Amino acid sequence: MLVDTHAHINFPDFKEDREEMMARAYNEGVKKILHSCCRIKEIPELLELSKEFNGANSLANLFIALGVHPIEVSSWEERSGEELNQILAEETNKSEHKVRAIGETGLDYFHCTEKEEQIKQREIFQEQINLAKTYKLPLIIHTRDAWEDTLAILTENFKSSSNDRNGTIHCYTGDLEFAEACIGLGFYISWSGIVTFKKTENLREVASKLPLEKTLVETDCPYLAPQAKRGKRNEPSYVKYVAECLSEVYGKDLEEIMQVTTKNAEYLFNM
Ligand SMILES: [Zn+2]
Repeated sequence: MLVDTHAHINFPDFKEDREEMMARAYNEGVKKILHSCCRIKEIPELLELSKEFNGANSLANLFIALGVHPIEVSSWEERSGEELNQILAEETNKSEHKVRAIGETGLDYFHCTEKEEQIKQREIFQEQINLAKTYKLPLIIHTRDAWEDTLAILTENFKSSSNDRNGTIHCYTGDLEFAEACIGLGFYISWSGIVTFKKTENLREVASKLPLEKTLVETDCPYLAPQAKRGKRNEPSYVKYVAECLSEVYGKDLEEIMQVTTKNAEYLFNM
């Protein structure tokens, strides 16, 4: 079995064949998927999808994260924090709710180069960290060209935390030092199709030095199809290519990689 810990299956790319895609995932052993949220507006649709894909009928079981992506901060209004808080309060109160994380949140200075936007990103990141603490949910962190600030914020918030389920650094593209620091703060490192690309030997090198017990796999579909499917639309069943790559990186059986990363995802996201 495998868990795709980061997918966006509500995107229009999947409009025509979403159910077939969820069946393909299930048949390839991807029985559980965590859906990442980019905008508050998406939430009603995500709640619906998580009800529709409940693990029955040989379709993958869809869990959801709720949050606002750093490049979507322009959609964040004065009342957005309270709005998100209310939805979380309401949803997590339901006995069979499927909210398993806050995110994706974080910092992206690659897409947002304006100082003011970056300040807003940090504020909204902090608000979502606060929500994660309130609801005892792990964070899904997106970070790009903002390593120093991301680590400073995480350190400030989690340095005295003994929790080993504070979240994940999704679609990891950083160096060994940053990864180890995050693991020390109770985070996991999640690898996407990027680690399978021909030119990312440096990332495979980083992966090989990190404990498999702190490793997750994801697709970030519809983006970032792995090398074997490069240029195509990505989908949850392709997460096996990431696992295959890690099997080579670690010199371990694919079976073991699948087992350990699945156990990690189930533990971190309580799924
Ligand atoms: Zn994403």
